[in-house]
Amino acid sequence: MTAFIVDGEPRDERPTNTEFRIEPRTGVGFLLNEGETLRVIDPKGEQVSDLTAFDAEDPREWLSSGRTIDYANRIYMRNGDTLYSNRSNPMLKITENTVDGHDFLLTPCSQEMFKKLYGIDEPRPSCFSNLSKNLAPYGIEPDQIPTTLNIFMDVRPSSHTGELTIGPPNSRAGDYTEFTALRDLIVGLTACSAEKSNNGSFKPIDFIIKT
Ligand SMILES: [Zn+2]
Repeated sequence: MTAFIVDGEPRDERPTNTEFRIEPRTGVGFLLNEGETLRVIDPKGEQVSDLTAFDAEDPREWLSSGRTIDYANRIYMRNGDTLYSNRSNPMLKITENTVDGHDFLLTPCSQEMFKKLYGIDEPRPSCFSNLSKNLAPYGIEPDQIPTTLNIFMDVRPSSHTGELTIGPPNSRAGDYTEFTALRDLIVGLTACSAEKSNNGSFKPIDFIIKT
């Protein structure tokens, strides 16, 4: 299995123990082995990154927002939280975190979402297209892509109606969140392509796989 995909193109090796930059409005796919950690860094500030994961052996098991929210009994994930699969197995644990408020409610931005919410017709990159492109080499089809963990995204529900307000990310340049893999995973990661989630501009995301 190819260990690393950048913007749809396979690479020979994963970049381990060194920073790798995801260019604005693109994404990557890679293998993350049990015990390894993934640090996701916002290098410029106010930039969201969408994360999803699948079991490396059986991609019918995937990172589930619903199960994770059930067990955390909270909608924001923070340091020490375990992220669960659709089969209620632990997949990832947040082991370091410099900024709070990662949203796990909303789906990855998509062409259809840009049309429905913002009236944008012209084809453009989205987290959904970038995850589709970079997970396809692992045999994962677009319909399998679930709600993503929206790292650094600020989504606030009204306590009365549940209506959601999307604010600029709380992350500042250099803020990061680190995840430890609790099993062998296929991971998809993006630099988000939705203006509203990123305070109006598209910026890169950096990551480090620590072996
Ligand atoms: Zn997005």
